[in-house]
Amino acid sequence: MVGGGIGGLATAVALRRVGWSVTVLERADAFEEVGAGISLMSNAITSLDVLGLGDAVRDGSRPQLGGGMRTPSGAWLSRLDGAAVERELGVNAVVLPRPQLLALLHGALPDESVITGATPSALVDDDHGVEVRYARAGQEGTLRPDLVVGADGLRSWVRAQRWPDAPAPVHDGSTAWRAITTAPVAPV
Ligand SMILES: Cc1cc2nc3c(=O)[nH]c(=O)nc-3n(C[C@H](O)[C@H](O)[C@H](O)COP(=O)(O)OP(=O)(O)OC[C@H]3O[C@@H](n4cnc5c(N)ncnc54)[C@H](O)[C@@H]3O)c2cc1C
Repeated sequence: MVGGGIGGLATAVALRRVGWSVTVLERADAFEEVGAGISLMSNAITSLDVLGLGDAVRDGSRPQLGGGMRTPSGAWLSRLDGAAVERELGVNAVVLPRPQLLALLHGALPDESVITGATPSALVDDDHGVEVRYARAGQEGTLRPDLVVGADGLRSWVRAQRWPDAPAPVHDGSTAWRAITTAPVAPV
């Protein structure tokens, strides 16, 4: 697994549950506090239930009461009614701090499964499959997996190796400001 974000860690947990041995290569030296809150919609909660982590996530989160998106002038583009979502889908959406979700996913993996400070340098194809070479603390390591999963985010190195001509993401000029308040704030 290249990348230890939400996608990489969740996929690693899922693969381990069906008997795979998984190694996660994460570029960052440590899992630090990044980001603010994250909303987990019913599909994410259902997936976390399958991973055996749904109750732990519910215990450390708050129900998603509502929310939405507005134009800069304040007009609503879309609104979310948490109660209506639960009525419709039978699963409550929740919000929790992003580092808490990462810690739960990370904690579901044995320490030796996650190699931090590791940056892949080459995917080498040969008659036996693929060898993954990576650099860590000035040394080169190698892995010979049955499957390589590129979970290394928006500017994926893995994708660039396999699909070098794929168009890169384009910044649309938007900036997101995120914060967590000490008490719930009702949408106006
Ligand atoms: C402002 C904002 C708000 C959002 N809010 C929500 C929300 O409320 N609910 C929701 O469901 N989604 C939300 N999202 C989307 C969600 O954050 C992403 O879909 C999710 O983080 C993607 O996870 P990922 O694991 O694929 O990638 P990432 O989270 O980007 O993780 C990639 C990981 O790979 C590592 N990495 C990168 N390159 C390498 C490399 N070469 N070698 C090794 N490791 C590498 C990175 O260090 C990182 O740990 C939001 C996104 C933004 C920008």
